Amino acid sequence: VIVILFGPPGSGKGTQSQALAEKHGFFKLSTGDLIRKEIAEKTPLGLEVQSIVEAGEFPDSALVNQIAEKAIVDNITKSGIVLDGYPRTMEQVNFLDKILSGLGKKIDVAICLGVDENELVRRIEGRRVCADCKTNYHVEFNPPANDGICDVCQGSNLVQRKDDTRDVLEQRLAIYNKETKPLLDYYDQKGVLTTISGMESPQEVAAMVEKILANVELDAKSTGINA
Ligand code: ADP
Ligand code: ZN
Repeated sequence: VIVILFGPPGSGKGTQSQALAEKHGFFKLSTGDLIRKEIAEKTPLGLEVQSIVEAGEFPDSALVNQIAEKAIVDNITKSGIVLDGYPRTMEQVNFLDKILSGLGKKIDVAICLGVDENELVRRIEGRRVCADCKTNYHVEFNPPANDGICDVCQGSNLVQRKDDTRDVLEQRLAIYNKETKPLLDYYDQKGVLTTISGMESPQEVAAMVEKILANVELDAKSTGINA
C-alpha cells in the first residue's frame, strides 16, 4: 500500500509514519529527513540547500522530486511506503503520479491529521530528535524512558532541530495553508482522503490510522485491485 500523511508541521506525521514502519515494515519516506541527512553529511546537494532549509523555506520541487523518486524506486518492493512531507505542491503531486503509474502503483490512501495552532507550537517547541537514529521524541508528550537516552539506539544525542522555532513554524504553516491544503481537494476527489483528529495521544491517533488502513485493504480485496 502507498499512504500519504498530510497535516501541518508538528501534527504528528513523522510519529505516525514511524509507527507504521515499525508495525508493518513500511518504508518511511520523509523528504525532510533525507534532505537533513544531505545537510549533515555536507554533500554538494546538502550545502546547496542548507541555508534555505534552516530559514524555514523549502528547496525547489525539482530537487525534492529527484530525492523522492530515488527513494520510491529503491523501496517499491516493501510492504508499503508512507510518504511524510511529500508531496507538498501540485507540481510534486503530478510528478508523483507519473512515477507511481510507471511502477504500476497508485496512492491507496491519504490521511490528514488535524491539529490546532496552539498545540502545534507546543509540539514543535518540545520536539527532540535522536541525532543518531532520527527517532523523534517530545520533552513532555513523548519522552524517552530514560532521561536524555534514545529508546531505540541508546544514543545520548537527543537534539532540537535548528528549524524548530515558533517563527519557522508560523512561516511553514502559512506555506502549508497556501500550497499544500489545496492538495487535499485533489485526493478527496480521487476518493482516497480521510481526515482525522491529530489532537489525541500518539497511540490513539495510531489506532485510527490502523482502522483506515484495514478498510483500504478490505476494499482492495473485494474489488480484486492489487493493493
Ligand atoms: P510532523 O512530522 O507532522 O512535523 P512529528 O511527528 O514530528 O510531526 O510531531 C511533532 C512533535 O509532537 C514531536 O515532538 C512528537 O513527539 C510530538 N507528537 C506527535 N504526535 C503527538 C500526539 N498525538 N500528541 C502529543 N504529541 C505528539
Ligand atoms: Zn536513537
